[in-house]
Amino acid sequence: MNTLIQSLLAERDKNVNWHPYTQMKTAGDAIPIVRGKGVYLFDDEGKKYIDAVSSWWVTLHGHAHPYIAERVYQQLTTLEQVIFAGFTHEPAVQLSENLLNLLPKNQKKVFYSDNGSTAVEAALKMCIQYAYNSGKEKTKILAFKNAYHGDTFGAMSVSGRSVWTKPFGSMLFEVVFIDTPNAENLESLKIQISEIAEETACFIYEPLVQGAAGMLMYEAEHLDELMKFCRSKEILMIQDEVFTGFGRTGKLFAANHLAEIPDIMCFSKGLTGGTMPMGITTCSQEIFNAFLSDDKYKTLFHGHSFTANPLACTAALASMELLLQEETLAAIDRISRQHSDFTDILEQHPNVENVRQTGTILAFELKTDQHTSYFNEVGKVLYDEFLQRGIIMRPLGNVMYLVPPYCITAEELDFTYRNILEVLDTFKNQVHFPIHAAGQE
Ligand SMILES: *Cc1c(COP(=O)(O)O)cnc(C)c1O
Repeated sequence: MNTLIQSLLAERDKNVNWHPYTQMKTAGDAIPIVRGKGVYLFDDEGKKYIDAVSSWWVTLHGHAHPYIAERVYQQLTTLEQVIFAGFTHEPAVQLSENLLNLLPKNQKKVFYSDNGSTAVEAALKMCIQYAYNSGKEKTKILAFKNAYHGDTFGAMSVSGRSVWTKPFGSMLFEVVFIDTPNAENLESLKIQISEIAEETACFIYEPLVQGAAGMLMYEAEHLDELMKFCRSKEILMIQDEVFTGFGRTGKLFAANHLAEIPDIMCFSKGLTGGTMPMGITTCSQEIFNAFLSDDKYKTLFHGHSFTANPLACTAALASMELLLQEETLAAIDRISRQHSDFTDILEQHPNVENVRQTGTILAFELKTDQHTSYFNEVGKVLYDEFLQRGIIMRPLGNVMYLVPPYCITAEELDFTYRNILEVLDTFKNQVHFPIHAAGQE
């Protein structure tokens, strides 16, 4: 292909498309991607890119996976969609059975929606209405500072306040934000929670890794302590595994690192292997039971047009089959080990700080004069540099991270590491970047 076609597509795109999280005035042309295969994406000039961020953390087994494609095609020619109120279908039943089998034993019911944000919305409604249906006055919600649970209004309300949420500040419902737990602050967190426990309906958290905040990590044992305390105070727990689910943390779910169990869990992103949009909210029998009544007002009045879409369910079934194969689990282990070895190297690097890793998620910060924030200018420079080198990384400010699809080979991962080290060396003598973007506060 030639550049004329590229510029044409980029131009047409500019005429009609409004891209997510993009300042359209200053953004460069979008890169037209014409196909994907495994860990690679190909642009219209035939240049290939390693998708080191799994296309916004969703792709598990690589792009255009033939097995998932075949299964979805078969389903598409059998049943593509059916209203899920009053009707059901094999893919939805099978997927619910298979998923519940992998989750903590108290998870008994599956509620379908379209994406991570809607999975969170449904979870929040379950908790608030659980209290309502039980005749209790509990409307406070507890969440972590820097949390990210999505972009719809409810999900935004339980996310940390930032420049992203600023224009909507007055419209967001009140949430009590606490620090993520560590050995030092656990007791003071418990005191904070105690003070509002009676009015608190639920606690929502990203387990072990706060993704959008910049891959901030905290220990499972400290979360366990906090969960145990919430349980003792009858505060429902929503474990948002939209990002951490399906192998990301080195185990199938972040739940597999924890001794305590949540009441509700949220899934999306890797759920369909990154092929189709779908969200799932699971809950315990106790929560489900609180909505059973002859009183119609106790119904969970929530639903989306594409609830339990058969194609998305089928993609999720196929992706989960692939995920549970021995070679995929071995690949997750291998990526985790490679990351861990690379962590040792990064820690020696003079330009790098705060190296951290949980399973297949690796993150570190480039030392700069600027505060760590989403708007740190370094990110854009790095982004362009890695694109040049045929690697898609999307730094969150000066936080660089890798979240590769599990199909990435040892060699492809080493290639990525090598390029990171080269780029870091390029920047070794020029860590002073101009400060002109707005800060996080
Ligand atoms: C991405 C994300 C969401 C939102 O999911 P969308 O599908 O983008 O709406 C919610 N929670 C967490 C932890 C996420 O990382």
